[in-house]
Amino acid sequence: MRTFSPDGTDRQSLSDALGTTDVAINRYRLSPGDGLPSGLHAHLDQEEVFYVVEGTVTFETLSEPIVVDAGEAVRFAPGEYQTGTNVGESPALVLALGAPTETEQVRIPLDCPDCGHRGLSPAWDGEVLLACPECGGEHRIRGCPACGREEMQVASGDREGETVVVCPDCGAERSEPQWR
Ligand SMILES: [Zn+2]
Ligand SMILES: [Zn+2]
Repeated sequence: MRTFSPDGTDRQSLSDALGTTDVAINRYRLSPGDGLPSGLHAHLDQEEVFYVVEGTVTFETLSEPIVVDAGEAVRFAPGEYQTGTNVGESPALVLALGAPTETEQVRIPLDCPDCGHRGLSPAWDGEVLLACPECGGEHRIRGCPACGREEMQVASGDREGETVVVCPDCGAERSEPQWR
């Protein structure tokens, strides 16, 4: 099934087409400048491998970025924060493999504004809700101050381990999320 999410991400679920039981396989086509849909995140309960079929994809982590060319692959252990962006000038085609198939323990590298715990759990209730697994607090980030897009994403900052909040549409960036 080929789907285009509201943010325009071109994603095809090969797991649906193949009926896989233990591995999730998605194919993404990324135009230059586009990233994989979720921004910086980790799965505590899923290992992920990305195989770049065409183009070049740069994977941001909380330390050094990893550049993956066509024909190469990168592996992320459960709990490693990562996201991929096509920073090249031609389209990129990438296969994302995750095992096990389902993931429930997703974390976003933001600090809880109540207790300071790093790693919030995203949920969707009509908009993105970030729950703190430590204190149970529920938080929402303000949308983009520049273009009004409702969802901001997390990216790695200049210093190791530092995160920033960016708008995937217009690129507006802030060092701290604005909670509401
Ligand atoms: Zn908390
Ligand atoms: Zn924006």
